[in-house]
Amino acid sequence: MTKRVVLIGHPVAHSLSGAMQGAAFDHAGIDATYELWDRTPIALADAIAELRTDDFLGANVTIPHKERVVPQVDRLTEEAHATGAVNTITKEGRKLVGHNTDVPGFKVALDALVGRQKMPRHAIVLGAGGGARAVVHSLVREGFQRIVVFNRHLHRAESLVKHFSRSAAHMELRAMPWHESIIESELAKTKVLVNATSIGLNDDVSPIPGEILTPDLLVLDLIYKQTRLLRDAASAGAAISDGGTMLLHQGAAAWSLWTGQDAPLEVMQAALEEARSKGVTSAEGEGGTLEPAADAAGA
Ligand code: NAP
Repeated sequence: MTKRVVLIGHPVAHSLSGAMQGAAFDHAGIDATYELWDRTPIALADAIAELRTDDFLGANVTIPHKERVVPQVDRLTEEAHATGAVNTITKEGRKLVGHNTDVPGFKVALDALVGRQKMPRHAIVLGAGGGARAVVHSLVREGFQRIVVFNRHLHRAESLVKHFSRSAAHMELRAMPWHESIIESELAKTKVLVNATSIGLNDDVSPIPGEILTPDLLVLDLIYKQTRLLRDAASAGAAISDGGTMLLHQGAAAWSLWTGQDAPLEVMQAALEEARSKGVTSAEGEGGTLEPAADAAGA
């Protein structure tokens, strides 16, 4: 019987995950499909209940459901519990287990960007959504000593800080209001800058002005393309990384959880690149963008 894995989100139309996961199943000769389920919040509980039937291996969960799905699974892994967000579901019989593979995905991306340098200890995180939670958890676990979270709606950054109050009790984790002058003065004390907002996903805009970026920064954008922020940072002489490495490794970790096998990273990477060359740029399904040159991407 063909096994099924689904991506549950709203919207999910232009998913890069579909290309990557489908290619991995084909390559490994596993009889499984990866389906895109566009479900509104009100339809989420029914979708999760359906996963309990025998033909499902599991699921990915994306915007806007990563936090909402937490109480709907039977068990959470340490990473899902710590972040309060689930992006992958596996099965134990009829029971559902919630994982967060964005955490190991971000860690691989950070390690690659830092390279042989000493791991920095100070970071700025822009954004306070599900992606930012995975980033902050990963940075805390990595031993960062100071993390400042800026968000448009300050209360959301404050809830994030509160959420981590126990695990981050040994270090300084602060929420600050989104003012350019405050971001600039914090940047002067910081080595790592992470964009975990969706600013730059659909429009060629940057969350912060290029003039305040400095050459010694390491800048990681979770968005899977060369955003304005990354281009400005590269012009300032900073080292940069887009969301591709994180996307690949969160997907590979999920695939391994469903199949019990090592993920075919090269195959998945090639599938991502092919999808990107057709213009799909959204990390998963959210706010999917088709570049003007790539009308065929929806095919
Ligand atoms: P989310 O929970 O919806 O959070 C979105 C964040 O962006 C919030 O902090 C929101 O601020 C901010 N934001 C959105 N529009 C804004 C605007 N116009 N001005 C200022 N702030 C704005 O989404 P998420 O899951 O955290 O994802 C965030 C980004 O990370 C997305 O682009 C996603 O593609 C990417 N991502 C990539 C990967 C990967 O594997 N590479 C994994 C996860 C996420 P407010 O709270 O003030 O609304």
